[in-house]
Amino acid sequence: MTHTMSTLTTTGRKRQQRNGRNVAVHAKGRASRALQELLNRKNENDAAPGDNDDGDEDTSSSYPTLTTSVSALVDPDAPLSILQYPHPALRAPNHTVTVFDDVLAALADKMFDLMYEDDGVGLAAPQAGVNVRMMTYNETGERDHPEDQVVLVNPRIINTSGPKTVFEEGCLSFPQLYGDVVRPSRVRVKAQGLDGKSFYMNIDKFPARIFQHEFDHLQGVLFVDRMDDAALDGIREGLEGQEQAFARAQPGVAYERVKKVGAA
Ligand code: ZN
Ligand code: ZN
Repeated sequence: MTHTMSTLTTTGRKRQQRNGRNVAVHAKGRASRALQELLNRKNENDAAPGDNDDGDEDTSSSYPTLTTSVSALVDPDAPLSILQYPHPALRAPNHTVTVFDDVLAALADKMFDLMYEDDGVGLAAPQAGVNVRMMTYNETGERDHPEDQVVLVNPRIINTSGPKTVFEEGCLSFPQLYGDVVRPSRVRVKAQGLDGKSFYMNIDKFPARIFQHEFDHLQGVLFVDRMDDAALDGIREGLEGQEQAFARAQPGVAYERVKKVGAA
């Protein structure tokens, strides 16, 4: 199986990963060393190791709820495609899912299809134009590793912990654009499966990076919103190119640009 150079992943370039290199090591090499050193010092100085619970993650009560099948939001027979920045669906509120039916399972399947087609490792439903709180990911990025597939419905962050790390991320809604993003290295999550059953997960390393990137999508937050000026400067032209392309394709449709929320 060959992969093109446009192997965009939630985090870094998969070609390197496929060449047998540990993606975390690879990413550390690519990410800003100065920034990571700063973080290391800050991590050391954090008196109380453990949770970096910002207290702002659980706003579940404010999410809109979809009381019917997800079929109310998506035609099960219509093909889906990945929306690109600055499509407004990427900023729209995402609904809590309450009906766990075949349409939801089919949506997850289609999301995996889109993800693998574009050589990604994670996808959030709003990226497929469906504003519900569901994400799919597979840290291997490989369809032939179905055992690594994860579907999380209505995920919630219980807390984040571990040292903060800088990592060069990409996003399927921002083809060819990469930039350093700082995030905690561990996250404890509560979520539901496609059967509606709740469970807890402790996620760390690469999957924690993917999860947090996709969780941001469910909050209407994009990875560019978390970049510092230096990282943004590196992709400014690309962002403007995408904005112009969107304005040409959908003239008159309002959209939001980067809105800084800071590091996670
Ligand atoms: Zn393969
Ligand atoms: Zn993304």
